[in-house]
Amino acid sequence: MLTISPSTAIGIASLKLIGTGQIKRVRASLRAENAQQLDSQDTYGPLMCLRLFLRRNYSSFWVRLGMDCIIIGGGPAGLTAAIYLARFNRRVTVIDGGDSRARLIPTTHNYPGFANGVRGQRLLELLREQGRNYGVGLIEGRIERLKQDGERFVAEGADRVFEAAKVVLATGLIDRKPPIPRLPDAIAQGLVRYCPVCDGFEASDQRIAVLGHGNDASGKALFLRTYSRSVTLLTLDGSKPEQKSCAELENAGIARPLAIVAAIDHAHGKVNVTLTDGERLTFDTLYPVLGCDVRSTLATSLGAEHNEEDCLMVDKHQQTSVVGLYAIGDVVSDLHQIAVGTGHAAVAATHIHTELPRNLKF
Ligand SMILES: Cc1cc2nc3c(=O)[nH]c(=O)nc-3n(C[C@H](O)[C@H](O)[C@H](O)COP(=O)(O)OP(=O)(O)OC[C@H]3O[C@@H](n4cnc5c(N)ncnc54)[C@H](O)[C@@H]3O)c2cc1C
Repeated sequence: MLTISPSTAIGIASLKLIGTGQIKRVRASLRAENAQQLDSQDTYGPLMCLRLFLRRNYSSFWVRLGMDCIIIGGGPAGLTAAIYLARFNRRVTVIDGGDSRARLIPTTHNYPGFANGVRGQRLLELLREQGRNYGVGLIEGRIERLKQDGERFVAEGADRVFEAAKVVLATGLIDRKPPIPRLPDAIAQGLVRYCPVCDGFEASDQRIAVLGHGNDASGKALFLRTYSRSVTLLTLDGSKPEQKSCAELENAGIARPLAIVAAIDHAHGKVNVTLTDGERLTFDTLYPVLGCDVRSTLATSLGAEHNEEDCLMVDKHQQTSVVGLYAIGDVVSDLHQIAVGTGHAAVAATHIHTELPRNLKF
């Protein structure tokens, strides 16, 4: 049986009222305008044609019918921004690729309000449910390109195009993975951890390994000394921290084997490390500090400023250097934490609401 979504049905019915001549004219002009960017005229479905028709011919209607804001990324930051905007009676849609870092969190104990902690997946479910309660559109998929069309933004997915006055980028980052077999299992069991600020407390008095090089890894090893006397700094490539860090690491009693890591495995709740000189070490938990890939290219392709790690630079309203384009959460240069991302979201959403045309109640 053929099934169509309610929005498509409304689009088709409305286009029938407008008349097939108008539809053809709208489609033809869209094709001509976008010949270089669109693969086929089907990219613009009936609802999009209706919207564009209304926008061109009845711009006051368009203000009401067009989307106020699209949010790219449905992790804690993006979902929180959506909840705020929906509660400001704004039309908002979240497009999400479905691989939030938060889904990997076995149980977070530092996110306020959950006295006994909350699983990352559960927190995401709760945020999605809260968004749906206020009419947030949640769409699974990836945005491949972001463009500007006058004062509006056009976000293109594999088979859909979204248009809005404002965009919030909440695309996060991807951690570089350590060479550990069955890594998802190790993360789920807390044998591999990524964030000392988040869960250093849970590693209290454990035998902790930090795997990485450079000042970042030294900094995390020193940070973790707050929680345990047994901290070891391991490297995959033998690179050494700066002289100053070496002295600090030594003063703090952080072990630094000379040999580099040959293999890492885990079994029976322990992490087993073999060094190139044959020494075998056992740890309760291991923190990889191998860097990350920040997912900021949709914004940087529009010229948004970023730092050397590709994190986006924003003003006090979370607006990037591209007016109307906001960035929140891990994609921004800041402390990468859920509470920080949701704070960013509140700031950005409130500024977006005040910048959009007023939506006075009829
Ligand atoms: C193992 C682990 C444990 C952690 N523990 C804690 C903890 O206890 N407490 C804490 O505060 N933090 C913790 N963190 C950090 C926390 O998960 C992140 O800070 C948080 O998820 C960032 O939220 P975000 O919304 O910015 O990005 P994310 O949650 O990563 O979400 C980004 C979303 O954007 C989507 N996306 C990316 N590109 C596109 C695109 N082009 N189109 C559409 N969608 C796209 C992705 O699919 C993803 O769903 C932990 C992280 C890890 C890995």
